[in-house]
Formats: sequence, C-alpha cells, structure tokens
Amino acid sequence: MLARGARVLAGPSLEDVEADVRVTGGSFSEVGPDLRAAPGEEVLDCSGMLAVPGLVNAHTHVGDSVAKGISDGLTVEGAVHPAYGAKRRVLSGTPPALLEGMMRSACRLMLSKGVTAFADFREGGLEGARMLRRAASGIPIRCLVFGRLEHYPGPGGGPLDGARRAELAALLAECDGIGISGANENPDPVLEEYGATGRAAIHAAESAQSVAASLERTGRGEVERALLARPLFLVHMVHAGPGDLGAARAARGIVACPRSNAALGAGAPDIRAMSDAGCTVALGTDNVMVNSPDMFREMDYASRSAEAAGRPVPARDVLRMATVNGARVLGTRGGQISPGADADMVLLDARSLELAPVHDPYEAVVHRATDSSVRAVVAGGRVVHGA
Ligand SMILES: [Zn+2]
Repeated sequence: MLARGARVLAGPSLEDVEADVRVTGGSFSEVGPDLRAAPGEEVLDCSGMLAVPGLVNAHTHVGDSVAKGISDGLTVEGAVHPAYGAKRRVLSGTPPALLEGMMRSACRLMLSKGVTAFADFREGGLEGARMLRRAASGIPIRCLVFGRLEHYPGPGGGPLDGARRAELAALLAECDGIGISGANENPDPVLEEYGATGRAAIHAAESAQSVAASLERTGRGEVERALLARPLFLVHMVHAGPGDLGAARAARGIVACPRSNAALGAGAPDIRAMSDAGCTVALGTDNVMVNSPDMFREMDYASRSAEAAGRPVPARDVLRMATVNGARVLGTRGGQISPGADADMVLLDARSLELAPVHDPYEAVVHRATDSSVRAVVAGGRVVHGA
C-alpha cells in the first residue's frame, strides 16, 4: 500500500515532512517524496492529511471499564487498592461475561481514538489475563498483557510458595509480562523473584501515602524497593525524588499517567524532571473507571499541566511520549513512521474544523486533535478504522 501526499511526522524525532509512505506486509518499508506506485499496488490518497504514528497507550486497566465514574471523589487507596479498593469490589461482583464485553468495548474505543497498541496491567491471575486476550481477539490493536498474581502479603514475609510459583510460570507463558501492583504489597524475596523473570513492570511512588508507608514499614524508599523487581518500566513516579529518577534509568522508562493522578488526588508527575534525569517517558491513561482511554486527552492534559506547574515540555516531546517513547518502553517495533517499524499510523484531517490551519503540527495533535479529526487508523499495514 502506498499512502500518498500526507504531511508526515516521520522517524524517531517526528520530523515534519511532506512524504509518501509505503507499507509492505505489516511494516513501513519506505518514507520519501514522490514514491512511484508499483503495478497493482493499492494507493491511498492522503492529501490534506497529517500522518502521525499510531498512539501507544502504555498503561491501562481495561478490566474496570464496567465501573466508569464510580471513583469520583475517591483517593488512590479508596479507588484502586488491590485488596480493598472500590475497584476490587466491582471486579469481583460483576459477571465475567460482562467484564469481558466491556473490555472489548474499551479496545474498540481506543482504536477509534488512534491507539494502535496498549499495555494493560490485568488483575485476576491467569483467568483474568485470558479474559483480556479473548476480549481483544479479532480487534486489530496490539494488546500487551501484564498479568498479576492476586497475592498481597505486604512487605513482611517470605518467598512465593509452590502453588504461586507455578501460577507465575503459567502467567509468564501466556502474558507479555507481570504487572505488579506495588512494592508495598510485596516482601523483598517476592519482588526479587519477579525481578528474576526479567519481564516485570510495577506501579511506584503514585501517592505521598504510598511513599510514606514504605518508609514507615520498611525503612526504605518505595522506588528503591520497586527496583528490586528489575522492572522493564515504572508506572506513575509522581512522588519520585531526584535520586529515584536517577535510579530509574536502570529501567527502559517511566509511564506517567497525569490525568489519573489528578483525578485521584495523587498530585502531578514532573515529566520534565523525568526527561531531564535521562529517563524515557511514556504516557498512559490508567484505569478506565477513572478516565477515558483517550491519548489525545492525555497528551493535552500532560502538556497543559506541565505548563501550569511552570515546567513546560515542548508539544513535540509530548507527542513523542505518546508514540516513539511508548513503543520503546514497551519494547515493540511500533511508535514511529520509519522503514522497518510496524505500519501503525493515524491519519488526521488537517482541513478539519478542529485543526485547520495547521501552523504547528505538534501543537495541533497535542492540544487540538480529538477522535473527530481522525480520518483513518492504519494498524499492521491495513486501514482498520475510517478512511
Ligand atoms: Zn495502574
């Protein structure tokens, strides 16, 4: 397929170029001016379009899609604590078929909003992970499942018992990784066992309370303990200090979820400090019960709240967080329009009421675009939405 005539934000730096884009199989194969169509090649007229990489939602919990809005006014603990939060009650009290159907709806919704890949921390052990795989099956969105043992002994205690170790092995066989609720729910030996898998990711320093609880109960920082799990990435890091951010460079990156943090009264992640510390920053929308899984909203909020805090981040960098960096943190081949990358892209109508005239494409995508400016979504080399 040859997508012709778009204004393309190309390559890992999202360079603003007029270019044609060739897709071969599921990957981009060529990006350049005036590419000639091969005999029989499908040509997609993209004049007037702004082509951006498929958005990467690097942290979700689609399992609570059935509980939209119930967390309003609750704190982090009250809403999403894995053992006694409102979410736990909803998940355990909802028929599985309904949960699965709502997860499927969340996948479809994300695709319509230009999200072509997402990583979910899925509760419910092996069956929970399988439920998400079933929900996402047949939907052309890349779904990375980070499964979880429903085991929250707290920071005291010993290693996993045999049954849990077997469940962990089963999760690893079927999941992309392990999504740990947090260091405070686990003793050191368990965090180290997760670390030995090389495929863990973990929530860390989400709230001031979780950081204080770690110090009080273990005498050590929450991020320091979270790093025992040798995570691929850390999620939140709202209350991470400079030393924590330096140590976090050992991971692929940090996934910030600024709207979720705001909604749950947890504070505001300093995405500029994270970047300045040398961490790769990605963005995620977190719990669907708290927020719509909408990366346009997440980018806009991340950008504006950084400005409000006097810690501005260029719109181009925010868009990188939602694309290039997300793929880097998750270890996928997507997130950019470059030869060899997964052919995932969003075609925005630059002539739409929302966007025209586009003086600055980064500002347009981050601050103005919504799903109403999405003309088409290409995933795995096929037009899967719109056109
Ligand atoms: Zn989360």
